[in-house]
Amino acid sequence: MALLQISEPGQSPQPHQRRQAVGIDLGTTNSLVASVRSGMAETLPDEQGRHLLPSVVHYASQGPSCVGNEAAEHNISDPLNTILSVKRLLGRGLEDVKMLGNQLPYDFQTDQGGMPKIATACGLVSPIQVSAEILRKLVSRAEVSLGGALDGAVITVPAYFDEAQRQATKDAATLAGVKVLRLLNEPTAAAIAYGLDNEKEGVIAVYDLGGGTFDVSILRLSRGVFEVLATGGDSALGGDDFDHAIAEWLRQQVGMSESLNPTEQRILLETAKAAKEELTDSESVEIEILDWSGVLSRDVMDTLIDDLLNKTIRACRRSLRDAEIAVDKIDTVVLVGGSTRTLRVRDKVAEFFGVEPLTNLDPDRVVALGAALQAEVLIGNKSGDEMLLLDVIPLSLGIETMGGLIEKIIHRNTTIPVAKAQEFTTFKDGQTAMAVHILQGERELVDDCRSLARFELRGIPPMVAGAAKIRVTYQVDADGLLSVTARELTSNVESRIEVKPSYGLAEDEITQMLQDSFSHARDDMQARVLREQQVDADRMIQDLLAALKEDGDKLLNTEEIQCLQVAVKELQKIRVETTEHRVLARQIEAVGKTSETFAARRMDASIKSALAGHSLDEIEQG
Ligand code: ADP
Ligand code: MG
Repeated sequence: MALLQISEPGQSPQPHQRRQAVGIDLGTTNSLVASVRSGMAETLPDEQGRHLLPSVVHYASQGPSCVGNEAAEHNISDPLNTILSVKRLLGRGLEDVKMLGNQLPYDFQTDQGGMPKIATACGLVSPIQVSAEILRKLVSRAEVSLGGALDGAVITVPAYFDEAQRQATKDAATLAGVKVLRLLNEPTAAAIAYGLDNEKEGVIAVYDLGGGTFDVSILRLSRGVFEVLATGGDSALGGDDFDHAIAEWLRQQVGMSESLNPTEQRILLETAKAAKEELTDSESVEIEILDWSGVLSRDVMDTLIDDLLNKTIRACRRSLRDAEIAVDKIDTVVLVGGSTRTLRVRDKVAEFFGVEPLTNLDPDRVVALGAALQAEVLIGNKSGDEMLLLDVIPLSLGIETMGGLIEKIIHRNTTIPVAKAQEFTTFKDGQTAMAVHILQGERELVDDCRSLARFELRGIPPMVAGAAKIRVTYQVDADGLLSVTARELTSNVESRIEVKPSYGLAEDEITQMLQDSFSHARDDMQARVLREQQVDADRMIQDLLAALKEDGDKLLNTEEIQCLQVAVKELQKIRVETTEHRVLARQIEAVGKTSETFAARRMDASIKSALAGHSLDEIEQG
């Protein structure tokens, strides 16, 4: 007999139904998915008990395509259709892809939009599509393991990823049908995994050497809040490069020619990688390749990878300098990434920082574990005063330009610290001051964004409109403190102001501002176009009136002058009255036509006056 399930009217039988959230480490080499169960973060294995999913997709000409270990088995037999290290291509333009091309043996092509794609047996695929395949595999693993659909995921990205690379990661998630709760920087995730957020304070170095990337981050923890003091590293240095160094040594030992076909290259790399990993536990390893056999000792490998390791240490030193932290002020060093298993790496890091690094969590899994903990907070399964990660700016920071428009200088979700500069010029002849209005928000019009501060740059030497060069620099430091500098480049006059933009806005205000920006996007674009037309109209009116005053009598007859004056009047009227950008655009065009003859005559006159009194030589030199 079934028991009746009794619950209060109006209440669900499971009032505290958990929402399912996971953390995903979308790695260059390996990817993982983790979730929090009974308060503990753990990575989720596949049916064979494997936690790491090789970030490999095989596109088959016959039969189904596959992802992970199964795909990796095609490495040697079908290298052109077996896509590895796709993270290196994610969000990159054609130029970058070409540069990476010599390390990746794929057939790169461009689509109609000029975006790089890889030609496979299943047609052209983009790096976003390949990444989506990997995500899909992880999501279905999680759904099987957790017994239900996912509500969201935190996906980690290298601290180095720029806006395009972050966006591409999100696009891949969307394509895979995953809701992204947040993109989280990998080093921050690692620090969270070690529970360092539970300590009162400290300075932490996170050394992350994966397969394809090296990141070092200096974090400061105070009162439960992480600040990113500095990040550095090399987005094209990792364990793969150890493999290349060892493969090159092997090639010489075996006596193979320098021009290898993709299959030979793959065999050498696979062998090198296996040897490297074995040398973590053994002093030496026996290698057989083609009809050559020999021994690689740990000592020899250490010399092969030493230059690469020194490069990582130099990047650590640079990051400390950027963070203005002396090396002896580092309290904790966290190791992340499979390549930190190599003993030589651990020794070098310990020697440089003078601290024994934390290694008790699996360096392959630590990022996914931290992401899972963060996902649990964001999905709302944990309440209370949870840590706020101040490692990205929540809303774009911009400047007011002519016509009440906002030009975004630093886009939202940019990792801090960051500095971006843009050049502006003067609008009026002889303009000696410029107002700088700093705004925050995603909308197109100044009135719809939040005003943070205003200041003036004075003492610009008088020049014709458009000649002055004013460089405005926005800099957000690790505390989320914004300072804005405006400098006129010919005279070097400078003015600056400091603002604190991250604070003062509650999380729900930020959400509201973002929602507004999406729901108004279309209206905003229309309004923006209108404002731009209005600015054009103003400039045109001003220029024409000035030109008429200067040259009208000399170059035009009375009728022509009148005709132009009427056209300008009409433009002034429409400029004030219309809210239709098309109407205004039409009038601007009409005035442009009417004034063509005048413009041509002025041009002739100015060339003639320039020629008068100069020798031809002078002109050619000029
Ligand atoms: P990514 O973050 O780029 O996906 P991982 O953190 O998964 O990379 O690290 C992958 C790298 O770790 C590869 O270069 C792999 O060869 C290396 N690696 C894995 N296990 C070992 C080991 N036991 N010893 C040395 N290197 C290892
Ligand atoms: Mg990694």
